[in-house]
Amino acid sequence: MNPRTLHTQLRVGDRARLKKTHPCGSRDWEVLRLGTEVKLRCVGCGHLVSLPRAKLATVLKEIVPPAG
Ligand SMILES: [Zn+2]
Repeated sequence: MNPRTLHTQLRVGDRARLKKTHPCGSRDWEVLRLGTEVKLRCVGCGHLVSLPRAKLATVLKEIVPPAG
């Protein structure tokens, strides 16, 4: 995904769907915090990671807004 798209569209509470599947079977990560690094929690297993924005842009497939 274009880093600019990520910068303008990603919001706390969104789900970031990545290209690679986590070992737990989930591809969706909840966005907990945005900054130079983006903090994510795996929806499947609760694993926490921090990724630099530029790195996230390379692995992000789509942004899924929270339901409702
Ligand atoms: Zn997981």
